[in-house]
Amino acid sequence: VNNSSARRTDTAPVAFRSGAVRPIAVADAHLEPGFWGARQELNDRAIIAHAAEWMTRLGWVRNFEDAASGSRYEHRGREFADSEIYKLIEAISWEIARGRDTHAALLNRLVDIVLAAQEPDGYLHTLFGRPWQRPRYSDFQWGHELYCFGHFLQAAVAHHRATGEERMLEGARALADHVCVLFGPGGLNRVCGHAEIELGLVELYRETGVRRYLDQASVFLERRGTGTIPLHEFGRAFWQDDMKVRDAEVLRGHAVRALYLSAGAADVAAETDDVELRSALERQWQRTVARRTYLTGGMGSHHMDEAFGDDFVLPPDRSYCETCAGVASVMFSWRLLLATGEAKYADLIERSLFNVVATSPSEDGRAFFYANTLHQRVEHSLPSLNEDGVVIRGGAAGRQAWFEVSCCPPNVARTLASLGAYVVTENDDAIQIQQFVAGVFQTSHATVRVATDYPLSGTVEIEVDAVTPGVSLEIRIPSWAEGARIRRAGDETAPPAGDYARLLGVGEGERITLVLPMQPRITRADDRVDAVRGCLAVERGPEVLALESVDLPEGWLLDEVALASDPAPAERDGSVWVDVVRLPQIDDAAWPYARPATDAAADRTGASVALVRYHEWAERGPSTMRVWIPVSGM
Ligand SMILES: [Zn+2]
Repeated sequence: VNNSSARRTDTAPVAFRSGAVRPIAVADAHLEPGFWGARQELNDRAIIAHAAEWMTRLGWVRNFEDAASGSRYEHRGREFADSEIYKLIEAISWEIARGRDTHAALLNRLVDIVLAAQEPDGYLHTLFGRPWQRPRYSDFQWGHELYCFGHFLQAAVAHHRATGEERMLEGARALADHVCVLFGPGGLNRVCGHAEIELGLVELYRETGVRRYLDQASVFLERRGTGTIPLHEFGRAFWQDDMKVRDAEVLRGHAVRALYLSAGAADVAAETDDVELRSALERQWQRTVARRTYLTGGMGSHHMDEAFGDDFVLPPDRSYCETCAGVASVMFSWRLLLATGEAKYADLIERSLFNVVATSPSEDGRAFFYANTLHQRVEHSLPSLNEDGVVIRGGAAGRQAWFEVSCCPPNVARTLASLGAYVVTENDDAIQIQQFVAGVFQTSHATVRVATDYPLSGTVEIEVDAVTPGVSLEIRIPSWAEGARIRRAGDETAPPAGDYARLLGVGEGERITLVLPMQPRITRADDRVDAVRGCLAVERGPEVLALESVDLPEGWLLDEVALASDPAPAERDGSVWVDVVRLPQIDDAAWPYARPATDAAADRTGASVALVRYHEWAERGPSTMRVWIPVSGM
């Protein structure tokens, strides 16, 4: 084990040391040009500055300056506006950690401004507690105070890990101490309406070793589900306050709340060695993936309460799939992956990264999907803007520059900035390749170089140098990758899909080639997913494909198109093409229900159309789109 290096080895977002596998540091992962390297560059070049501009323009930064000045001010933005600045600080910190100082001055300025607003007792929120404001802790349902604190703690830990500076971490300790005194055993018997502080407290414990922060995370976790949040029309499940985390069978209620809570619970389970809690979370993950998750990995099918639907309620045209839920799903799966070392968690991470996280930002990094529908029936209408020119609600507005509730863009920013830490893991005797990303990854056992243009092709070249003798290389073979091949020293093997291929005793300078099958695949849904029965989707590698109206023959409408009974997906000119037919024009005088037709496919016009990568849709002007396509005659 190489302990002598001067490189910072402790900059992983989740310093999770007690599981089956361990993360490597952001500082030890250098992405090279490729699918994710390009997005990390986009983040550095555009997304972070864009987010900072909007947060400044809308006065969300000014809130802190005014709070520090002590003079009366009108708070701008929503209850959780503070947290967006914290996520931005976290994003820039990971940029620093990976060696990019593009935004170092901005980071210093934001940290100064934020810390100046912290009160002597550690409390820090710009909307509550001043004489002209609502009192502190007067709204646990919607106030988001502890939620904002959680993001502050995560940002402070990231800042400390990236820069080595103490000042923000000191602020975090003061804030966490305040919380522990007020909400500890025997204190206020309350939890925040939005889980998040649990994650921050555990990470602060990992960074400082102060046990009371972990204990306080446990207290919040065990307190949720005991009905401390006042009743609301959305019901107790909305806040996951309907039952205790360890008693639940599936994720329910508000999707981002549920997933942040689950990620925090997985952290607590790991650090307290709570096997029962971890098993409960594994079961919940499994059942949620089997019954409440979209093909894209998206989660949440309710628009009104941004919540999970019941089992198999997965309508593609009402999929909410908030970008933040995709980020939070990655966070939850990542913790279970570290705890168990099981490939299925890395599989879902890959699906969510390619089809939710990568979908949100536009090509120029200056507009974002908030919700990620799987079926856009009508072209996006002009969004409703407030007096500041931002979108009031992001549910159905297409990619937009900014939102009144702008949780998603900085969540994308912090995920892309830290993405290098999610690619490779290690344990005492092996290195795991979890994701296929071009770059150089320094583990304690070896330097791993990955060269690939994945997912354009399925060829992944892996070279290991500076190898600890006897170490193994474990390569995740995605569950869709039946027929994968591994070439090593002239031998070719066919590893099973859905598990790790284990290569024992890799040697110095050894080169290994993985070839993943990238032929387009037809996918059907379980019959219980009623909303897409009779439809098929097409996937290629980790990418979900979609049919977008701009690719249809002249004059055809999206809702007139069905797949031919044998759609014969084939690759041509860099796209996947399928055979489709045009349904008869709808007759508005006719009743749309009839006996099943016996010759439904007769007299239909056929065509071959190119599918678009789902994450690239809505980049070519107004359009409609669908992932699930009906099959002619079904
Ligand atoms: Zn969001």
